[in-house]
Amino acid sequence: MNRSTHGSPEGARASLLAELAHDIVDERVREAMSRVPREEFVGADAAPVAYQNRPLPIGHGQTISQPLMVALMTQALMLTGDERVLEVGTGSGYQAALISLLAAHVVSVERVPELASSSTERLRRLGYSNIEVHAVRDELGWPDGAPYDAIIVTAASPDVPRALLDQLAMAGRLVLPVGSRNIQELVRIVKTPEGAQRHNLGSCRFVPLLGRGAWPEPR
Ligand code: SAH
Repeated sequence: MNRSTHGSPEGARASLLAELAHDIVDERVREAMSRVPREEFVGADAAPVAYQNRPLPIGHGQTISQPLMVALMTQALMLTGDERVLEVGTGSGYQAALISLLAAHVVSVERVPELASSSTERLRRLGYSNIEVHAVRDELGWPDGAPYDAIIVTAASPDVPRALLDQLAMAGRLVLPVGSRNIQELVRIVKTPEGAQRHNLGSCRFVPLLGRGAWPEPR
């Protein structure tokens, strides 16, 4: 029997966190994950499987990331509570909700207007008040809110985008998947006076980051 398809969402959430306990070493991240209702961020059809450790479709050809990947990326941001954080790729708003419990303020940008408005509405309804979501088109990130102490990109980039390094504060962390359209390396960049220091954190697979500075827009 698959535990996460039965019983209460709280029970399924606790089972998932137990399953990920070995990988989530940051206690604050674990605690925050125990407070975000993932079932609210996936469609009604997927709600019964919201606590399986896998990505799920959220419409418009996009996916909410696998919980393990969400945890590893969030951990890699090394948040202590006072940061301003930029997320590129709001999607469902789940990752933004999680970060909002671990930082002071979250700016999240999304290129699919319908996802930007549905996640805005969802985050408001669920009571997350320190997140601003913006629909974006041509620009990568949200320069008006820069500098950010941490930036997370939840879509795959062919390279580390210069535009995002420019929006990162000194000593800030940029966490993103870098590679081909099919397979990427999860990378953490730390901005130092000597330049960007790169740490590889393992392989991953994300939907593509589209637009200027990334992959071309589909026709
Ligand atoms: N973090 C999300 C999952 C994001 S999936 C969650 O927790 O649900 C990746 C998202 O990035 C998609 O919604 C896609 O539309 C968006 N995206 C792709 N390219 C983008 C760009 N250049 N700027 C902003 N969002 C982008």
